[in-house]
Amino acid sequence: MERKNTRVIKVGNRLIGGNNPITVQSMTNTLTKDIDSTIKQIKKLEEAGCDIIRVAISDMEDARSIDSISKAVDIPIIGDIQYDYKLALAAIEHGIDGLRINPGNIGGKEKIREIVKACKEKDISIRVGVNSGSIKKEYLDKYSGVNEYSMVYSALENVKLLEDLGFYDIKISLKASNVPLTIKSYMKISELCDYPLHLGITEAGPNWRGTIKSSVGIGTLLAMGIGDTIRISLTGDPVEEVRVGREILKSLGLLKEGLELISCPTCGRTKIDLIKIVEEAERRLDGIDKHIKVAIMGCPVNGPGEAREADIGIAGGNGEGLIFKKGQIVRKVKEEDLLDELIKEIKAMD
Ligand code: SF4
Repeated sequence: MERKNTRVIKVGNRLIGGNNPITVQSMTNTLTKDIDSTIKQIKKLEEAGCDIIRVAISDMEDARSIDSISKAVDIPIIGDIQYDYKLALAAIEHGIDGLRINPGNIGGKEKIREIVKACKEKDISIRVGVNSGSIKKEYLDKYSGVNEYSMVYSALENVKLLEDLGFYDIKISLKASNVPLTIKSYMKISELCDYPLHLGITEAGPNWRGTIKSSVGIGTLLAMGIGDTIRISLTGDPVEEVRVGREILKSLGLLKEGLELISCPTCGRTKIDLIKIVEEAERRLDGIDKHIKVAIMGCPVNGPGEAREADIGIAGGNGEGLIFKKGQIVRKVKEEDLLDELIKEIKAMD
């Protein structure tokens, strides 16, 4: 999988594109002007591994809140602005690190020029984003409806408005809730330009369905080397979006941080309550920040063997289990102590 070489842009203290790590983004669902709640949520997201956060800027009070919020958090903040260029200017003035705005929607060249000037002065990048539900009628007519052509050319038209003013610190998103359409759109735009791409499946749905849709769509693109930053859109706690995003990156070897948990599906040979052990392990291992692979397997026949590549793990027996490291058995432990012992071993590892 060779990653497409894209232009590098800056969002606060993060670089997006080129060979820089693929970042995980999320969006707060607090009222931005509720400064305390917004800071609290961003801190939780930071802790979960969020690299960049987006907040809605719906009025001047939201824009002014950026001063206090950005001082209290460590990750860059992107302001999401619909239509009103004055909100964009105010957000820039109050310390926003990036904008998500469509130049075609803000009412003419002079307003775009003002935003571009302010962005250049403060070294702020802009995400141009097209959603399948909001493509202009002229593009729908020209390209016969919602498809990769209307998505891509509508985005490039917005990009051109910025390029005409000498502005190139741009990233692009082309989000649809339809996975094949999203994949085709990103593939196409990736052929046509070298701007970094922000991947997402929009309105993916509640956690379970949304996670699957996002993993298939975003995972397929990343596996083709397309994508520089990702956002999982789930109807739920944004912390879950970050966990899913990081897990997608880890599963493709694009994030080499944190613990990887593998476990067997269980079968007629399983003689311990493996499902309960794995559920509890997932919860308890969440806070351990070590780059190791942990395997929890149901039996000693296939357990250590199947998990040979794991750094440490459990292989269940009859009411007991073996702790193993690098495929070698270390000791036997009673079922009720298995997880405690495993966690003790993991904590003792370098
Ligand atoms: S590791 Fe053992 S218990 Fe688990 S699925 Fe494979 S054979 Fe069954």
